[in-house]
Amino acid sequence: MMREDVAVKEQVARPREKLAPPQKKSLYDNVVRQFSKAADLMQLDPDIRKILGRTTNEIVVAFPVKMDDGRIEMFTGYRVQHNNVLGPFKGGLRYHPLVEIDEVRALATWMTWKSAITNIPFGGAKGGIQLDPCSCSSRELEHITRRFTFALGNNIGPEYDIPAPDVNTNSQIMAWIVDTYLSTIPPHERQASVHVVTGKPVELGGSLGRDKATGQGVVFTIEQWAKDKGFDLKGATYTVQGFGNVGSWVARLLKPHGSKLIAVEDVTGAISNSKGIDPEELTSYVQEHGRVSGYPKGSPIDHETFLRTKADIFIPAALENQITGSTAPLLNVKLVAEGANGPTNPDGEEVLQQRGIEVIPDILCNSGGVIVSYFEWLQNKRSEFWDLEEVDAKLHKKIIDGYQRVRDTARSFNTDWRTAAYIVALSRLETVYKERGIFP
Ligand code: GLU
Repeated sequence: MMREDVAVKEQVARPREKLAPPQKKSLYDNVVRQFSKAADLMQLDPDIRKILGRTTNEIVVAFPVKMDDGRIEMFTGYRVQHNNVLGPFKGGLRYHPLVEIDEVRALATWMTWKSAITNIPFGGAKGGIQLDPCSCSSRELEHITRRFTFALGNNIGPEYDIPAPDVNTNSQIMAWIVDTYLSTIPPHERQASVHVVTGKPVELGGSLGRDKATGQGVVFTIEQWAKDKGFDLKGATYTVQGFGNVGSWVARLLKPHGSKLIAVEDVTGAISNSKGIDPEELTSYVQEHGRVSGYPKGSPIDHETFLRTKADIFIPAALENQITGSTAPLLNVKLVAEGANGPTNPDGEEVLQQRGIEVIPDILCNSGGVIVSYFEWLQNKRSEFWDLEEVDAKLHKKIIDGYQRVRDTARSFNTDWRTAAYIVALSRLETVYKERGIFP
């Protein structure tokens, strides 16, 4: 049985400095390179290019929190709002030691493209706190979250900017945000404002299917890819990097297809088993132990061996910049389905293309999360509660519509899928800007 109520925290792959080249690379540079390639190819209006090439607001807050031992610690929190021409700013919050402005800027921008591709009325934003959640007690995490929400003040709001879970954040953290936010607004506005965040616990206005939504969306796109290619998912092999919410749900949802999970990596190490790893069992193990390494039915392997594992599909579902000019040559797969945001950098992408490895790009592949966030937001606004079948059917329609637009655009522009996904997003944004004009 699949359990909807199991909240697996997003897990991270190894710290990036161990995998990426020693020099710190700007993640936003990846966005700029991807954006420029698509804008050149589609001949995006130069004025619109100027607008979309910048973030609208960048909020950095420093705030104090009293820790369990009585000492005061200062934290830095971020919220970057890239664009809201299609609707309110929207995007997750991540808690990670490496969160910084350049990363959040890139992630916020990808959110704008994601909503535009799938045609949902949201803009793009992202935020987070630079912190190692493993080093905090639950009480500390609650206080940090509440103090961060308070510091953000009316920079977030149900019709303005709507956070959601991301790496190392979950429905409990969303519940603390709602509670804090509602406490700061007038009592008669509170009931009508629970859609200030999505990814809430179901009892508190969350949507059925939101917890698995990103993984479900990844699987829907893989199914469609397999259908288009005449590829049989039964018996197909795959590997997963990151076994948090996204990675574990992808694996659990691929199981009924008869596909075989043969290697998994997380921040603590990698394991493999050519006979197959049971996703449900591994999920239970990770919930209990907080890590993949040590799972008794898999043999430990090193990072390079993990990347070299021959499989049909690789699903990166951890952090960014994992598939680079130096790691892409090691991959031995037919398809990369990007559950994570930004797992492939432009150098890695070139290598994948030269080697004929197909990519379902992040801004399409992992958009199931924000799509079901939109459904949660709608349900809250209309005081409705949809059943899981309805959520899944609507998610399937939205993401497959997006998939087909990207696939057809890749054909008509004779380009790669990421560039095609950008063209779909940028065309929509360009049209809206042209219709609205620029104030004054
Ligand atoms: N954090 C998820 C993402 O990167 C979901 C965002 C949302 O639901 O707003 O797409």
